[in-house]
Amino acid sequence: MIKDAGNKQDVGIVLCDCGRTLRDRIDFVKLHEYLGELEGVFNVRCCSGFCKPKENTNVIKSLIKNKQTKRLVIGACDQEVFEKALTETVKNVGLNTGLLWSVNIREHCAWIAGTKRTATDKAKDILTTAVQRIKLDSALKQKSVRVNQNVLVLGGGLAAMQTAIALSQLGHLVTLIESLERLGGLAVKMPQLYAYLASNSSNAEELVRNRVEELIGQVKKNRRIHIELSSKLKSLDGELGNFTAVVTSKDSEQRIPAGAIVIAMDSIPMQTELVELTNNTRDVPKRIAIILDILAEQGRGISARVLSAAEILVNRFKADVKLYCHNIRVAATGMEGLYRRTRQAGVSVVKYDSVPMILEKGSKKLVSVEDPVTGIQVNEEFDLVIIADVNLEKINNELLKLIDGLHPVSNRQLQADNVWLNPTQTNLEGLFILGSMPDTIELRDIQTDGLATANEIHELLKDKKIDFFDDAATVDIDKCVLCLTCMRICPHGAINIDEENKTASVSIVTCQRCGMCAAECPAGAIQLPRYTDQQILIEIGNKPKITVFACENSAYPAATVAGISGLQWKKGVQLIRVPCAGKVDPRDVLQALESGAKEVMILGCHLENCQYL
Ligand code: SF4
Ligand code: SF4
Repeated sequence: MIKDAGNKQDVGIVLCDCGRTLRDRIDFVKLHEYLGELEGVFNVRCCSGFCKPKENTNVIKSLIKNKQTKRLVIGACDQEVFEKALTETVKNVGLNTGLLWSVNIREHCAWIAGTKRTATDKAKDILTTAVQRIKLDSALKQKSVRVNQNVLVLGGGLAAMQTAIALSQLGHLVTLIESLERLGGLAVKMPQLYAYLASNSSNAEELVRNRVEELIGQVKKNRRIHIELSSKLKSLDGELGNFTAVVTSKDSEQRIPAGAIVIAMDSIPMQTELVELTNNTRDVPKRIAIILDILAEQGRGISARVLSAAEILVNRFKADVKLYCHNIRVAATGMEGLYRRTRQAGVSVVKYDSVPMILEKGSKKLVSVEDPVTGIQVNEEFDLVIIADVNLEKINNELLKLIDGLHPVSNRQLQADNVWLNPTQTNLEGLFILGSMPDTIELRDIQTDGLATANEIHELLKDKKIDFFDDAATVDIDKCVLCLTCMRICPHGAINIDEENKTASVSIVTCQRCGMCAAECPAGAIQLPRYTDQQILIEIGNKPKITVFACENSAYPAATVAGISGLQWKKGVQLIRVPCAGKVDPRDVLQALESGAKEVMILGCHLENCQYL
């Protein structure tokens, strides 16, 4: 049941006829009359250029000058078009953004509704809904959280040093935590496996060594970077702006506060045998099989290092090497060249569809694989078989144990692989991962990621405080039964237990306002301001229709594009804007069906392109 929103006459409505071009499609006189009679509406004003700063300010000022108008509904075009002008006005006249709601009467109405009459009726419907829902909104308060500007960087390799230097140049104090007794990471341990970086492996080794030495020199000289060697992260608590890391070294433990965390540990502990063989620290047998992609398809980073190793084993140690893989990924600078060199050196690459079997045969090993073209089983003997896969899940699990709320977001990786987000961002605000992750293999990429991450952190921390509106999800402590469903569902680890009240509690800093927790809470204890259950019920209404829940990041703008393209919507389509498709509660779908919807659609982003991860 929809709660009574009260009958205060405090809603003002602005209608924009887009330079009078919409007057042919919508009857603005009738619409104006109709809206003026709606319960709760104090005033309606028309304009022709809401996107123009001066007109925007004038029309809003004329609406609020009597002080009775507290809430504002805007019926215009796509909000992006007038966003800049509106933001300026809001600042100038002191409007509260929590009491503004806009609907698109151009692309979602005038341009798609067929006749003038249907467009006018549709405009009446969507503006009526907007008036009803805005009456349930409250003014948003701004809050500030003080943040620590220091940054903790975990790792001592190329990526870690690069990021630490960039952060220090932006004015941040950085603590660099390295588990080994020296800086340099993988690049020091196995420079020979960076062969893709130059036209031959010796040049590549030299290139990597020089770069590492250069960075070590810069880091050691930098007074803004504090280095802790032989140290490890034990645990990490807190959130963006106020993390606390517990770091252990040989005989001590310290708590390090930091505003942001960068994890740049070498995440590809390359197959030890390959490192030892190519380092010449163990005997190289005559016939070697290297097998890739058994655990899962390996990224470019692993392919790069395996090809580098194969080339060295053939060229320097005269070994006979065969590489078995499901796919070899060479889409990166230098990789195609390395692949050709490796093949020319005599390495055979065998593609398989079914995972090869490895059998013991006396002192030898037998690799048995089905030829994917002929279907014939081919057996071959080797002195040594190396499975070169890296178990990324195992590596990630080590981190997940240390950091509450961190979880893989795409293809087993902890960082975002998503058009919306920085590629080093994790699901936790303020925590970044970069470096030798599976697909970051070029020195240039490592450098770019380091600089981009440093800039992003600087943007977050530069003002010593972060301002928020209090529109994060809220928990009703009288309804919460502490079932923890919301904690499990929240993609950003924004929900904790309030020990005092024994309820769930949402962090205003970490909450990304996606609304998934509200959709999942079985007790109906969580509400997302602006998209409360009541407001969604109002949107659903009770007319027969096709109800479309549209994510405001993808489907909702796509509907606008459909309008711009002149596509006519099916009659009865009712578009309900939601912050994320994950906000749609199954109960909303049932409610829509019960209210007479013939079809219900939930439209969201492509898999792995959700900006909430
Ligand atoms: S899902 Fe709802 S009832 Fe369960 S802990 Fe979260 S707020 Fe409380
Ligand atoms: S709204 Fe989204 S980010 Fe915020 S607490 Fe709920 S699930 Fe987490």
